[in-house]
Amino acid sequence: MSDKFSIDSHKMGLHPLRVAKWLEAKEDWQKLKKIYPVYVEISPYGGCNHRCTFCALDYMGYENIGLEFDVLKNTLSDMAQKGVKSVMFAGEGEPLLFKDLDLIVEHCSRVGIDTSLTTNFVPLNKKNIERCIESCSWIKVSLNGGTAKSYAQIHQTKELDFERVMHNLEYALEYRKQNNLKCTLGVQMLLLPENKDEAVILAQKCKETGVDYLVIKPYSQHNFSQTTKYADIDYSDTQDLEKELECLNDENFSVVFRANTMKKHVQKTHSYSTCHSTPFFWGYIAADGKVFGCSAYLGDDKFCYGNIYENSFSQIWESDKRKKSYEYVKNELDIKNCRVNCRMDEVNRYLFRLKNPHAHDNFI
Ligand code: SF4
Repeated sequence: MSDKFSIDSHKMGLHPLRVAKWLEAKEDWQKLKKIYPVYVEISPYGGCNHRCTFCALDYMGYENIGLEFDVLKNTLSDMAQKGVKSVMFAGEGEPLLFKDLDLIVEHCSRVGIDTSLTTNFVPLNKKNIERCIESCSWIKVSLNGGTAKSYAQIHQTKELDFERVMHNLEYALEYRKQNNLKCTLGVQMLLLPENKDEAVILAQKCKETGVDYLVIKPYSQHNFSQTTKYADIDYSDTQDLEKELECLNDENFSVVFRANTMKKHVQKTHSYSTCHSTPFFWGYIAADGKVFGCSAYLGDDKFCYGNIYENSFSQIWESDKRKKSYEYVKNELDIKNCRVNCRMDEVNRYLFRLKNPHAHDNFI
C-alpha cells in the first residue's frame, strides 16, 4: 500500500457526522449555514521567492502582503470553536515567508486544529521550522526536478536553491529524529515534460535522504492562470514510469504516483453535475484576508463571502453572501467550467453519489 494517506482519493467518509448533518439539512439554509468546513487552506503571505513555470495562481500577482498576526490568530480560534479540523498553510505565496508562522502553527495546536504546510522549503530559519515540525501533522515540499539544472529552470530560480532544499530536508529529518517527533515529511513533483526523465532520480534522492514519501502528480490547467504552457499536457503514457517508481517503495518510503488523477486528466470529464463541496466542507483565506469557498475561484466575487479584517470567520461563514454563493453553485454553476481534477473532485464524487444513489447502494 503506497498511498497510506489517501492522497490519490479522499477522506470525507471519515467525517460521517458532518456529512450526515449536511444530508439531513436538505435545502434548509438555517441548518446548512451552520455546516463549517473540515479543512481550510490559508495563504498567510502573498509573495513568493520562486516563479514556477506551472504556477496556477500566477494571476494573483505574488503581492508582498501578509495577514496580520492577531487577526489570523483570532480567526483560527473562532474556526476551531466552530469545528474546523485542519488547516493547510500554502496558497498564492510561499508560507515560510510569513515571519511568525511557527507561532501561528503552535496556536493551531493549542486550539485543536491539525496543521500542515506546503512549501518550496527554501526560505527556512531554524526557529520557524523546528516549531513547525513539532506542531504540524505533515509538511510537503514542492520540488519539481531531480537535478539542480531542471529544478532551477522550472522554479525559475538559481541552481543553488536545489541544494538548499535538500539540505533543509536533511536538517528537518534529523531534527524530527532527535526529538522523536511525528510530523510526516513528504515531497511533491508535478510531472512535466521537462522533469519526467528525472522522476526516478528525484525518488532515489528522496529515499536516500529519508523523506517519507514522494507524490508524483499531474498538472491541471487553472481557468484563470496566465500560463497555458502545459494546457495540452498528455498523461496517457505513464504506466512504465509508475512501475519503475513502484520498485522504490519499502516500509519507510513510498512513491504516491497519482495514477487515478492522471487517468481522470486523460478523460477530462466530470462524473457529477453539481458540486456539493462548495460552500460546505472546505474554504480558503487569501493573503488579503478574503474568505473564499473554493480555491479554484480565488478572485471571483461569487465565491467570496467576506474579509476577516471586517468580520469574524463565523459571521462570514453564516452570512448572506455565502447563502448567495450556495444558490449560485446549486443553480447556476456549470462545473464543466471548473478546473479538471479540482482539489475536491473525489469528495464531490462521493457527495454526489450520496445525493444520487446507485441502484445497488443498499446492498452493503
Ligand atoms: S472547482 Fe471543484 S470545488 Fe470548486 S466549485 Fe468547481 S467543482 Fe466545486
